[in-house]
Amino acid sequence: MAGVRKIPQRQCVGCGQMKSKNNLLRVLRTPEDEILLDATGRKNGRGAYLCISSECLAKAKKKKALERSLKAEISNDIYDLLAEQMREAEAAMARQAEKGDGNRIE
Ligand SMILES: [Zn+2]
Repeated sequence: MAGVRKIPQRQCVGCGQMKSKNNLLRVLRTPEDEILLDATGRKNGRGAYLCISSECLAKAKKKKALERSLKAEISNDIYDLLAEQMREAEAAMARQAEKGDGNRIE
C-alpha cells in the first residue's frame, strides 16, 4: 500500500466535524478586511473552514462562528455572496463525484 498521502484535517466551523482539507472550503478574511471564499486555499489572510455544504454555512451563520473565527463583522450581503459561491462549489463537487474522480489528489 504505497503512496497513501496524509491529508491535513481541519474543523468545519458549521458542524464541528474534522475533515480533510479536500472536503472543505476556506473562508478568508483578507488583509483588506474582505470576506471571501478561497477556493484555492492559498491566499493570505485569516481563514476558517466549512464543509462544501450550504447547510454548514447556514449553521455557521446562526452560531456566528465565522465572525468569531475571523474576528470580523459579516453582513447579510456577504453571507448572500458566500451562499451563492457555496452553491456553485456544491454543484461542482456533485459534477466531480459523477465523474468518479472526486477523491483524486493532484
Ligand atoms: Zn460542516
